[in-house]
Amino acid sequence: MTDCVICPPGRHRDVEPHKLVCFHCSNRILRHLGELEDYLPTLSLLKTKGGDGGGRKPGFGSSSPANDTVIHHTDWRTTPSALDGMGAVATVHEWAVQVREDRGLECPRTLSVFGELHALRSNHSWIMAQPWVADYAQEVREIHSAVRAAANDPIPRSVGQCIAMRRDRECGADVYEMPDASGVKCSDNACARIYTGLDLDRLRVAQEAS
Ligand SMILES: [Zn+2]
Ligand SMILES: [Zn+2]
Repeated sequence: MTDCVICPPGRHRDVEPHKLVCFHCSNRILRHLGELEDYLPTLSLLKTKGGDGGGRKPGFGSSSPANDTVIHHTDWRTTPSALDGMGAVATVHEWAVQVREDRGLECPRTLSVFGELHALRSNHSWIMAQPWVADYAQEVREIHSAVRAAANDPIPRSVGQCIAMRRDRECGADVYEMPDASGVKCSDNACARIYTGLDLDRLRVAQEAS
């Protein structure tokens, strides 16, 4: 078995068959793409890129930093900025173009960010086997957290990895503090182990030991 190219050192998990990444990393990327689809429309300046020279109209909105962030993430062509990192729509578009070029797929007649996200999702399995998958995962993770923050829904930080045993090995999915702070919960839906009290102590000890 080979190690996942995305998992951090010391946390390497076995890759899925014919892929370069593990089950958890593959699932996380799909979840990020799905959430981008949910969050992007809440950034109200979202535009469709048509053949009509559409795009941001000059003079739109104020120049408040919040607005600049939204414009940055919903612009089809942005260069990474020190403040906001990579633009979300531009990044999604670039990867969708890469996938179409590599696979010889036709470019859709009308481009929309949802179409591009769909292109990434429908080619997910193939993407997970590409040599650039680690870069892809990193960028999707970055724009996902930036867009989520811009949509005013900051990401809860993972507090460690799940130590529940499943089919003879550790679950290993990220665990997050529960909204009511009563404990922490595994993010893997099939596991969904909740840690409270003594279990929580055991989890903490396990994180320190790893
Ligand atoms: Zn992994
Ligand atoms: Zn778990």
